[in-house]
Amino acid sequence: MAITEETDVLLVGGGVMSTTLGMMLRQLDPQLKITQVERLDHVAHESTDGWNNAGTGHAGYCELNYTPEENGQISIQRALEINQSFEVSLQLWSYLVEQGILPAPERFINPTPHQSFVWGEKDVGYLRRRHAALSQHHLFRDMTFTDDPRTLEEWMPLVVQGRDPMQPVAATRVPYGADVDFGSLTRHMVTWLTEQPNYELMLSNDVKALKKKGDKWRVSMRQRHNGEERSINARFVFLGAGGGALPLLQKSNITESHGYGGFPVSGQWLVCERADLAAQHHSKVYGKAPLGAPPMSVPHLDTRIINGESALLFGPFAGFTTKFQKEGSYLDLFSSLRSNNIRPMMSAGISNMELTRYLIGEVFQSPEARMRAVRNFYPDAKEGEWRLQQAGKRVQIVKKNAEGRGKLEFGTEVVAAHDGSLAALLGASPGASTAAHAMIDVIKRCFPREMAGTEWPERLKTMIPSFGESLIDDEALLKKVRSRNLRVLGLDKGQH
Ligand SMILES: Cc1cc2nc3c(=O)[nH]c(=O)nc-3n(C[C@H](O)[C@H](O)[C@H](O)COP(=O)(O)OP(=O)(O)OC[C@H]3O[C@@H](n4cnc5c(N)ncnc54)[C@H](O)[C@@H]3O)c2cc1C
Repeated sequence: MAITEETDVLLVGGGVMSTTLGMMLRQLDPQLKITQVERLDHVAHESTDGWNNAGTGHAGYCELNYTPEENGQISIQRALEINQSFEVSLQLWSYLVEQGILPAPERFINPTPHQSFVWGEKDVGYLRRRHAALSQHHLFRDMTFTDDPRTLEEWMPLVVQGRDPMQPVAATRVPYGADVDFGSLTRHMVTWLTEQPNYELMLSNDVKALKKKGDKWRVSMRQRHNGEERSINARFVFLGAGGGALPLLQKSNITESHGYGGFPVSGQWLVCERADLAAQHHSKVYGKAPLGAPPMSVPHLDTRIINGESALLFGPFAGFTTKFQKEGSYLDLFSSLRSNNIRPMMSAGISNMELTRYLIGEVFQSPEARMRAVRNFYPDAKEGEWRLQQAGKRVQIVKKNAEGRGKLEFGTEVVAAHDGSLAALLGASPGASTAAHAMIDVIKRCFPREMAGTEWPERLKTMIPSFGESLIDDEALLKKVRSRNLRVLGLDKGQH
């Protein structure tokens, strides 16, 4: 028989988003009763798990898609915003390390220089202009550019060895980029939270329905092993369910959910675990996306550090799928069609036929074709040394525009009910790196009464000293905040 319980905050999902929100709310008000519900037997097993994402601390240092060029003008606004957002996450993690809540930082974050690498006259010109535009801003002042073969050999030996010496090449570098194991980060946060009073974690419980009853949400779930059904009444619900967020948002039927759809994209990596090769590449090297490729399939050759072990990772190879989660169903895409989103979904589908064709083509790529892609970055790569690894799924947002047509978006967005009783996080890029920034947005929109007082804003400022201020505008504050982040998280060790 179903048992009904009461909670203040119900977090759906055990990934980095719900967990970051749970951590922040716990710091803001230890009296809040918080319940976190996860359908799998472990937390952080979908997109947040180390091998399911690239672990890039997205700061706009190396990702060329954040600085598009139009009519010879490089737009840096998105890179500035992403950089600022990442500094917010770094401040939260620094605070948690200083409080002893998170362990030694190398257990979840490691200094890994962020570099962009391009070849061919046209792209070398672009990179030079990008560097000139970005390095004028204090957020990117430490970025350096080179087209000198000796410097390149020092920065990225595997990438330049075996390359045609006549080929024009260039790179930029920021020494204090980060490789983040978001899975480890999340598991450490959950471990601490579950030791606190008023915090309950319910694993293996699949949220099936949610309905507003008076001023509360009644959330129904089923235990996946014994079939036990349970309902919990909550004052506030956060749908941090990754690919599962859109279907649940649709079930909530809040007006704000109407018109949203999702376009899933699968991912694969090539991984090389030869320790001697991994030791020669200490960097995340991002290139330019191939023509027709979506922004999230920008190829990169990365150092990955998971459980203290270094490996090389190349990818992602994006692909077509109809599943919203790795452990989801092939019917996910079709079940997400509703009368309020069918038109936007159809029109987005028609205007993105090229992308769909590209993704289908990627699924059928041969191992040889994949190795050719690796060799664009690492010319001496040998096939037998790489294994294929399935990455997580990303559900890109399809959003209804003013004319009722759908637009495919590649960002992350918080959708909240007008009364602040429910919020959902949709999209997956830049993703986990901006978790703290996104969760502040949730808190501002869903806890306006608490945020109008003095206690919550002051506590937020203790956790995140730049809270309420702009790191884009305030150079002195950025200097202070960044030097502390680099020191506490050990990211300054990458500066050589
Ligand atoms: C290939 C790839 C590469 C990426 N690279 C990067 C990167 O380099 N840097 C970066 O910052 N971000 C990256 N991301 C994005 C990042 O991984 C995600 O944005 C982030 O992990 C999302 O966290 P989440 O908590 O929202 O979702 P998830 O980690 O997917 O967690 C959601 C959880 O909710 C659970 N759930 C779902 N439905 C239900 C339900 N009905 N009931 C109960 N529980 C449910 C799921 O089981 C899951 O555990 C990448 C993603 C992918 C796929």
